[in-house]
Amino acid sequence: MSTAVSRRSLFARFRGGPAQLRPPWSRSESEFTDQCTQCARCIEACPTGLITPGHAGYPIVDFARADCTFCGACHEACRDACFDPDASHPWSLKASISNACVETKGVTCRMCEDICATAAIRFRPKLGGCASPEVRLEDCTGCGACVAGCPVQAITITPQNSSLQEATP
Ligand code: SF4
Ligand code: SF4
Repeated sequence: MSTAVSRRSLFARFRGGPAQLRPPWSRSESEFTDQCTQCARCIEACPTGLITPGHAGYPIVDFARADCTFCGACHEACRDACFDPDASHPWSLKASISNACVETKGVTCRMCEDICATAAIRFRPKLGGCASPEVRLEDCTGCGACVAGCPVQAITITPQNSSLQEATP
C-alpha cells in the first residue's frame, strides 16, 4: 500500500458525519477506500442517479435521490478493484420503518407496500384501526425504492453487516 493510498484510507476512516453507504458489490470499506481513485466513473454510469460523491469524493449511495435497480453499471464502469461482482449478495442493506409511519396513528397510506417490488413490506392490523408495518428481511433487497415514496421519511436503509457496506464514521 502506498503512502498516498494509506492517507486516503485514513482520511476516510476518521471523517465525521452521517453514515456513508457504498454502492452495491463494493468490497470491504478498507479495500474500497484503498483502491478507489475517486474517478467518478461509477457515479456517471449509474442510470438512476443513486450514486453521488461522499466524504473526500468517495462514492456513496443516497436513497433520497433514487433507488438501485442492481443493473451493475457501477461495477462495470470501475477500472480499479473496488467491487466484487462475484459476491453472493450485492450488499447487506435492508429497510427499516420507524414509528413516524402514519399508519401506526390510524392514517391510511401504505405507499411503501405498494412500491415494494418484492412485497417485503406488510402491515399487521391492530386494535382501533391502526396498523404496524413490518419488513421481511429475507425479501428486502435494500433497493431503497420505498424511501422516496414515504411522505414522512419514516424509512431508512441500513447495513445488516456494517463491515461490508458502511464507511467508518
Ligand atoms: S447497480 Fe445500477 S442502479 Fe444500482 S448503484 Fe449500480 S449503477 Fe446505480
Ligand atoms: S428497500 Fe426495496 S425491497 Fe426493501 S422494503 Fe424497500 S422497496 Fe421493498
